[in-house]
Amino acid sequence: MGLRAYISRRVVTAQGVRPAAVVVEGERIRAVVPPSEAPPDAIREDFGELALLPGLVDSHVHINEPGRTEWEGFETATRAAAAGGITMLVDMPLNCVPATTDVAALEVKRRAAVGKCRVDWGAWGGVVQGNESHIEPLAKAGVLGFKCFLVHPGIDEFTMVCEEDLRRSLPHLARTGLPLLVHAELPGPVDAATQQLQNADWTSYSTYLRSRPDEAELAAIRLMISLCREFGFRLHIVHLATGQALEMLGSAKAEGLPITVETCPHYLHFEAETIGDGATQCKCAPPIRSRANRQQLWQGLRDGTIDMVVTDHSPCPASMKRAAEGGFQRAWGGIASLSVALPVMWTEAGQRGFKLPDIARWMAEQPARLAGCNANKGQIAPGYDADIVVFDPEAEFLVAEDRLHHRHAVSPYLGERLRGVVKKTYSRGNLVYDDGEFPGVNMGQEFHPCHQLA
Ligand SMILES: [Zn+2]
Repeated sequence: MGLRAYISRRVVTAQGVRPAAVVVEGERIRAVVPPSEAPPDAIREDFGELALLPGLVDSHVHINEPGRTEWEGFETATRAAAAGGITMLVDMPLNCVPATTDVAALEVKRRAAVGKCRVDWGAWGGVVQGNESHIEPLAKAGVLGFKCFLVHPGIDEFTMVCEEDLRRSLPHLARTGLPLLVHAELPGPVDAATQQLQNADWTSYSTYLRSRPDEAELAAIRLMISLCREFGFRLHIVHLATGQALEMLGSAKAEGLPITVETCPHYLHFEAETIGDGATQCKCAPPIRSRANRQQLWQGLRDGTIDMVVTDHSPCPASMKRAAEGGFQRAWGGIASLSVALPVMWTEAGQRGFKLPDIARWMAEQPARLAGCNANKGQIAPGYDADIVVFDPEAEFLVAEDRLHHRHAVSPYLGERLRGVVKKTYSRGNLVYDDGEFPGVNMGQEFHPCHQLA
């Protein structure tokens, strides 16, 4: 394959937005130069005012294959990702069957992914009760890090862990040098609150919100910070939903502890005050909290206490949202947003004075760092994979079912008007999404950490 030059007035690099030609050779970016310096023998494609962003890295996705492919699967998840400008997914170790808690299960997942992926992917391993002897073998086999739950995860094949379990696992985890991603809610406060709500109206969102109080997150984060200090492992808090934890996280980071924090587009977009009764498409855990809380999360992003924004794409069939009953107690908790996360974030961030480089930092560079693929992905720079998104920041669109592309068109974003349209997505130089079409064949591969050494 010869040289190609992708030219735009707005190329988003770590140094800012500027006119540039991104020179691509095969699967890699060879150079980023002023447009006039594009090599004369390169095939030129001039995108004018459309922005070029680095392909996004989504480090929090539930693909659910093998085992629950009727919920999602590699084929549909990676299509939705391509349509959303995401060129690398890291798959959570649960909701698939078997859960990724030993090497044999990882191999089953790898076989299931072959030939189905439109973009690249990687795997998180699981830390569950009694699997401490599998942690180092999983790391050697190529997982990018580990995930655990401090509260029941909603399915039975993946056990939650308590402090005692963690004390057995953390020495192994620390030796791998890989991050531990923690679903930070403790069962105590959730159970106590739920007890009080036995006879409450569970079609009402406020009932669900009261059942998962801020304190459940705060107590879990407090515990994890102290374990991080004691065992010296890389701690990552997934889907932070309470702004009340920001102060303690900020001081733990200032102390020099290796802690990173993510939140998700839905916590930055929705607010509890306007979620209607029975709107189970908005159910997730921890829950979407108040408008004032949302404001605190934005402040956390602004001051850097929150490092990144990833989707926690967690789809299910429509029937599991129990829309007809509208019961928040029994509905599946999870929000699917791979194909709309970028426009959701751009719509919200733009109104708050943020710019495209902020989006690239939160949604590409930082998650790539977490997943250890930051030498290959997450930036438009020489030597990086040619993962590039052609994005129209000014265009608007209505979220309709044909914009979603994941298996089941269930989404709390349906009917919303969003700003920013993904026009094309290139994954390692291959055009994988083109204005509603999915050209070519599935070229997505698993990212192996050893590639960094190559
Ligand atoms: Zn999740």
